[in-house]
Amino acid sequence: MRVGRLSGVVPDAMRFCFDLVTEQTPLAGARLVIEEPDGQAHCRACGADFPLSDLILLCQCGSADVEVTAGRELAVASVEVV
Ligand SMILES: [Zn+2]
Repeated sequence: MRVGRLSGVVPDAMRFCFDLVTEQTPLAGARLVIEEPDGQAHCRACGADFPLSDLILLCQCGSADVEVTAGRELAVASVEVV
């Protein structure tokens, strides 16, 4: 499971829901592995690429003309059935 830090999903809440949802199913006890890749942003003003750890879109050069290039992903990276 890949949850970008900027996707607005709280991994702890997701783990909790996953346990509830899988409780009465063959998936009970399945492990939810969550990756949290850091966000990445590109500044259109100065061309810098910099990491994003929160939703404050502001480049070090002071420009707010910033494009989020990574960190919004929310995807099932892999499902392993044993
Ligand atoms: Zn900049």
